Amino acid sequence: MTDHQHYEYASDGHDHRAEPLRSPQEICEDARRMGCGQCWQRPGRPCSSLPGDHLYRYQWAARRGLITRAELAAVAIGLDATNAHVIIPGYAL
Ligand SMILES: [Zn+2]
Repeated sequence: MTDHQHYEYASDGHDHRAEPLRSPQEICEDARRMGCGQCWQRPGRPCSSLPGDHLYRYQWAARRGLITRAELAAVAIGLDATNAHVIIPGYAL
């Protein structure tokens, strides 16, 4: 895999590294406020029938400022790849 994405810190002028990370459940909840462009799930619902959500939603949520880039990096840690179609393990709400 050569297409790892690199996340820039503080590109919006704020140093998010200094902010405490929220729980995975809270991050997931905010990511789900976005619809998914990968499987076209609508906002507020988990992706498809899989126990999780596409990384796509987290990436968009970070771009829209719903979650911080540090939080995006936190949920992406441990993944084999950071492609948008990767499933983030589900957090039951
Ligand atoms: Zn999806």
